[in-house]
Amino acid sequence: AHLDRIGAIDSRVHAFLHVDDEGALAAAADVDARRAAGETLGPLAGVPIAVKDVLTTKGVPTTAGSKILEGWRPPYDATIVRRLREAGLVILGKTNMDEFAMGSSTEYSAFGPTRNPWDLDRIPGGSGGGSAAAVAAYEAPLAIGTDTGGSIRQPGAVTGTVGAKPTYGGTSRYGLIAFSSSLDTPGPCARTIEDAALLHAVIGGHDPADSTSIPAPVPPVVEAAREGASGDLAGVRVGLVRQFAGEGAEPGVVAVFRETVEALVKLGAEVVEVSCPHFEYALPAYYLIAPSEASSNLARFDGVRYGLRVGDDGTHSLEEVMSLTRDAGFGPEVKRRIILGTFALSSGYYDAYYGQAQKVRTLIGRDFAAAFEQADVLIAPTTPFVAFPFGSRTGDPYQMYLADLFTIPSNLYGGPAISVPCGLSDGLPVGLQVMAPTMADDRMYRIGAALE
Ligand code: GLN
Repeated sequence: AHLDRIGAIDSRVHAFLHVDDEGALAAAADVDARRAAGETLGPLAGVPIAVKDVLTTKGVPTTAGSKILEGWRPPYDATIVRRLREAGLVILGKTNMDEFAMGSSTEYSAFGPTRNPWDLDRIPGGSGGGSAAAVAAYEAPLAIGTDTGGSIRQPGAVTGTVGAKPTYGGTSRYGLIAFSSSLDTPGPCARTIEDAALLHAVIGGHDPADSTSIPAPVPPVVEAAREGASGDLAGVRVGLVRQFAGEGAEPGVVAVFRETVEALVKLGAEVVEVSCPHFEYALPAYYLIAPSEASSNLARFDGVRYGLRVGDDGTHSLEEVMSLTRDAGFGPEVKRRIILGTFALSSGYYDAYYGQAQKVRTLIGRDFAAAFEQADVLIAPTTPFVAFPFGSRTGDPYQMYLADLFTIPSNLYGGPAISVPCGLSDGLPVGLQVMAPTMADDRMYRIGAALE
């Protein structure tokens, strides 16, 4: 049914870069066979899922939205993909994304943008717009995204779906094509909080193949989602981040956010105002740290090892082949990040830019720590604005970067955060973001479920 749905509407939505009909049907048959053989499978066995094209899938094309990886078929599965298969989930295909997960609208995909199912003339968010749109358009009940600065939560918010960024290190990065290694966090996209929690429980937990994976069990996210569904938040202290409660967001978003705060109070939550004075520096710090790490990570795309190779005709030197390949294979936003990152890391500028940004990162962590003394979770709108029309922010990179104004702090800190649909502004979805302390992922699911 989901393959039929994709066949019927994906020419308009373009959520998928690759649909694996054969693989999906074989995986579904395999689940039946495992059940028939007496194997006890988990609650998501047989459930179809879409996977962001930044995670490696053995033998199945993986591009990260870039021409430089066109035609590459990875020889191995990412840990998360392996866990999906072991749990019996059926992978439908790979979803569209901004090239190397750099962007907020999927307009930077080398293979054309994804459209927002709510309004096909608007963006579905990014970088994981394909995963969010697939879920919103009922092409897949679940999807995997990755969140470096907001790429699960922001697409969730603008497509009216649930998107959760687990604690950094709570989900494995093995087999995730690296953008910014100290920030990249895979996580679930779903239509309900409980679905997201069930998926989180399948993909989360320690992975010895990832050196930054946390050696601890997944927090009790499914239990928390079920507990929250009772709608009782008595005794829960919700911290409203003063700096993000009104400023920088469009009026329609602020109005929906205020109504949501009132709803939390009605459910019994105690809402306290908290101040996080360094959050306003999160965006500039991120746009030094993330491009710096990206400039190092993307050095591996040299035209020798993967996908595209240009100029290998016997008339060019190895160096020329590398630069011709990179010139043809990388899009403008990726080139901008590499140039920015190598500049920030160069001697003479390192302390002033990269070093300074790392200090800001520490201060943001301290803001979170202080705020969590007063509150169990923090809330803010997920995004400053609803889904915008195509082309309206591509002319000025800063306008595009602003989409992640409210999501970036929790990436710099490393704690979990979720976006929950909370209303409409001019007929378009608005998301509430709930941020929790590291390894307290269960708290955000409880609040989300209570609001649902
Ligand atoms: N939009 C942000 C960026 O362009 C975040 C991307 C992400 O989370 N992958 O870097």
